[in-house]
Amino acid sequence: MALPVFKFEAPKKEKKRYFRKHQDSYVVLQKIKLWPSRIGTLHGIKSVVLNGIFIEFTTHCGQKMRIRNSKTSRVSRWLRHKWYAQPCPACKVPAWKLEKYSSTSFQ
Ligand SMILES: [Zn+2]
Repeated sequence: MALPVFKFEAPKKEKKRYFRKHQDSYVVLQKIKLWPSRIGTLHGIKSVVLNGIFIEFTTHCGQKMRIRNSKTSRVSRWLRHKWYAQPCPACKVPAWKLEKYSSTSFQ
């Protein structure tokens, strides 16, 4: 009698990521690595550091930004609601990253 063959395949269902809603912007930016600008362009973040009450980060297209670290910033809110018009062409945010982001639930 042949032994049953077990296949250890990852389940096909879409993997959902969950993210706690009320976290510092720093934590969110560090994990998501995306930053929606005020005009709705979604940039990829190259590096991010926390400097006192400010978050300093550099986007892949070379913008250096400094924003206040808070749990209720515009950036946190926009990221949570996934408000953005288009990904930055210069940052070349990879499709897998956008997909990962779109399948992330903020709770
Ligand atoms: Zn950019």
